[in-house]
Amino acid sequence: MAKLVPQTHPALHAIAEEVPVEDITSPRIQKILKDMRAALHSYKAAEYVGLAIAAPQIGVPLRIFLVEDLQKKKKDAAKADPPHLPSLVAINPRILRLSKKKQLMHEGCLSVKDVYGGVTRSTHATIRAYDERGTPYERGASGLLAQIFQHEVDHLDGILFVDRAEEILHPEEIATHRRAQTAV
Ligand code: ZN
Repeated sequence: MAKLVPQTHPALHAIAEEVPVEDITSPRIQKILKDMRAALHSYKAAEYVGLAIAAPQIGVPLRIFLVEDLQKKKKDAAKADPPHLPSLVAINPRILRLSKKKQLMHEGCLSVKDVYGGVTRSTHATIRAYDERGTPYERGASGLLAQIFQHEVDHLDGILFVDRAEEILHPEEIATHRRAQTAV
């Protein structure tokens, strides 16, 4: 089974390649999506919850990310914070628009152990991408989903949040930032 690769893996520091559109429905790409989901599900770090994953995080240098909110599987879903997210697959995503309005947001990463950071991100983002059936779509997002779009597209460009972070939080400080208890 595919696993999360360590922070030093070259795929996490390189620009990933586009997936030929005609290959999206191929067994190879569908297997990669399955492996990404399995790696996201296998992520366990204290009480943190994985929300999204990019292909380079399992060592595959292709422009694919997916969002799958595993909080849904938890019993206390009704009072979830952060709020629930839609499940989506984004292949060859492009950021079409980023709001001028930005905010310092706290985030964690499946590929960076034990550290959270404050990164200035646009509060709204719109992407264009292909879904797993090869159908193009556009999607706008605000808040946490907009933050995830920016974090995941950074992964496809070989950028980790620690490369951008203006502030780094260590485990003992994380408890004061509830939204920091997720990883993408
Ligand atoms: Zn990440």
